[in-house]
Amino acid sequence: MKQTCPSGKRLYLHEALAIDALIEANVQLPVGPNRGPVAIYQCDICGCYHLTSQGQMHPQLALLISEGKLAKMKRAAEWEKRLKKR
Ligand SMILES: [Zn+2]
Repeated sequence: MKQTCPSGKRLYLHEALAIDALIEANVQLPVGPNRGPVAIYQCDICGCYHLTSQGQMHPQLALLISEGKLAKMKRAAEWEKRLKKR
């Protein structure tokens, strides 16, 4: 399997890794309307997974948001950043 993709997008070898990255990307995003990746897809070219900001939101991400867990993770990440700055 190729480790790079002509699309230039970052690739993930497994679906689970892509989902982790998708959630992490959303945790790191500033609060506001959806601007980050919302879903993952398997690439026709490289066979790996990429993140996408288009299409339907991934159910796992949607669940985290509806349960308020994403907001908690965001706050935790904020604190982590502040602590690192010291
Ligand atoms: Zn690809």
